Amino acid sequence: MKPALIFSLFLLLFISHTNYAQTTVDDPEIKKMVAEVKSENMEATVRKLVSFGTRHTLSDTKSNTRGIGAAQRWVKSEFDKYALASGGRLTSVIDFFTIKADGRRIATDSQLGNVMATLKGTDPTDDRVLIISGHLDSRASDVMDAKSDAPGANDDASGVAAMMELARIMSQREFPFTLIFVAVVGEEQGLYGAKHLADVAKDGKWNVIAMINNDMIGNSLSSGTLLRDNTKVRVFSETIPFLETEAESKMRKSTNRDNDSPSRQLARYIKTVTNQYVEQLDINLVYRNDRFLRGGDHTPFSQNGFTAIRFCEMNENYDHQHQNVRKENNIQYGDLAEFMDFEYMKKVTCSNLATFSNLAWSPKAPTNVGIEVKDLTNFSTLVWTAPEGKSVYGYNIVIRETSSQHWEKTIFVKDTKAEIPYSKDNFFFAVQAVDALGHSSLPVFPLPIR
Ligand SMILES: [Zn+2]
Repeated sequence: MKPALIFSLFLLLFISHTNYAQTTVDDPEIKKMVAEVKSENMEATVRKLVSFGTRHTLSDTKSNTRGIGAAQRWVKSEFDKYALASGGRLTSVIDFFTIKADGRRIATDSQLGNVMATLKGTDPTDDRVLIISGHLDSRASDVMDAKSDAPGANDDASGVAAMMELARIMSQREFPFTLIFVAVVGEEQGLYGAKHLADVAKDGKWNVIAMINNDMIGNSLSSGTLLRDNTKVRVFSETIPFLETEAESKMRKSTNRDNDSPSRQLARYIKTVTNQYVEQLDINLVYRNDRFLRGGDHTPFSQNGFTAIRFCEMNENYDHQHQNVRKENNIQYGDLAEFMDFEYMKKVTCSNLATFSNLAWSPKAPTNVGIEVKDLTNFSTLVWTAPEGKSVYGYNIVIRETSSQHWEKTIFVKDTKAEIPYSKDNFFFAVQAVDALGHSSLPVFPLPIR
């Protein structure tokens, strides 16, 4: 290449980098953490969890080699290893609670326990909380069968392994606010573990800014249609919030905010950060809380008014999901580790890690985000209040056409007011706070200021 051409290419890079410095800057620490994600670690975790035979919620709790109790204690012992490396900032607990017989999938009153690790933040004035989960329990063909083998390699040792890998890597760093890593139980019996934690969070008035559920993230081959794709993962987010007051509903309708729930903003945030930090993985935004007529561990959080999403593989394999381990007509059924794609699972974990840490280091989101509507103009004027706490370097105004699923343009500004040459009739906007290293808050949808 000619020197002049190299120079102009460099100049081009430099110019685009300075114009959008805050949207394209990579945090070297996040890159380093992403590089620390090891598929061997996660494969070892999955195989260890499978070795407990079954992790059915109502399986043996006494044995040290088989059943849910052994699996709970093993996850806790792993958390305790990370805790040592964290200098004691990570603490762990098995949070036991009682579920009454429900006449459905809980036959008798039962004691359940979520295995939870908490990484305390360094800023006591920052009350934000982030939660990441996978479900520890597994099931056989019959959801009440607590005795047969139920390896649950993909459903959901994969999600637990991802969550543990994040706990391991993130507990060696400091974050301003509290991060919770949790292996919930009771998912297959009716989302009981997640519901328990979502209720604790609601009753305790926790400021949970995002909850991320990983459930089945390690299979890349569909049954039946035989689609193989390890470059896409689905992120499910509610369209219309479960919890919406009459005034909020009215405002949503008048501002056409039908595709901008806080959970949808989180889903788009994941897509942006994944594009930035993870190669060969695209986030497929699914405009549903979960799969058709189904729910997951993020659902009780959504129902309690929290911002929550689910990661789930692009294509599911029903030969290896909710099936007894058996061979029929030469087809091997059962959720076994041999059918998993650990490189795929690693990329999904990297997406989780980049998102979670970017959010964990972000300033608080701007407040009172508004859009002026007093004049008819083809410009749009956005105003907001600077958040308290961690210092803000500037703000991203993200922009997309009304028919686009993802943000298409970002304008970086230093002030708390901006007039931009985009009509509010033709575009949607949101505003996020950014620190000097590019860590950004979740985008906030503006409400009209009259
Ligand atoms: Zn599951």
